[in-house]
Amino acid sequence: MKRAVFPGSFDPVTVGHIDIIKRGLLLFDEIIIAIGVNAEKKYMFSLEDRKDHIEATFKDYKNIIVKTYSGLTVDFCKQQNAQFILRGLRNASDFAYEQAIAQTNTRLKEIETVFLVSNPCISNVSSSIVRDVIRNGGDYTAMVPRSVTL
Ligand code: ADP
Repeated sequence: MKRAVFPGSFDPVTVGHIDIIKRGLLLFDEIIIAIGVNAEKKYMFSLEDRKDHIEATFKDYKNIIVKTYSGLTVDFCKQQNAQFILRGLRNASDFAYEQAIAQTNTRLKEIETVFLVSNPCISNVSSSIVRDVIRNGGDYTAMVPRSVTL
């Protein structure tokens, strides 16, 4: 059984995340979407709302599970018996950031990080841009699944 953890803040979940998760299902039997809880970070959406958005989006998928975690992602992976971390790459700056984290994670625990390159139509979508559009009263609906409402 190949199980991957897809970690992130999902503040909020976007069409970019969904694309990576659905494509990840071609590689893995099960994907755990893991919402990281960081007490020092300020979020726009509450943890409950972020979890609800994702669960509603994937309600018809038996092989997608949504969980929350704090602490090291590699410790969470071991605890969940997941051998892989799934991440998306939008551009070169994502790569530089992700490379360092993936190398550190491999050093900490035997975990492979698998990267999927984003779909070019949505590589400009990020949770932070969605939050900016929301804050300024713009139309954010094409960048997120229908479950994300204010
Ligand atoms: P984090 O706070 O850990 O960066 P995010 O929720 O912003 O969490 O992102 C989680 C993962 O989803 C990351 O691997 C990120 O690169 C990927 N991702 C985010 N937006 C997109 C997108 N538009 N296309 C592909 N991957 C994306």
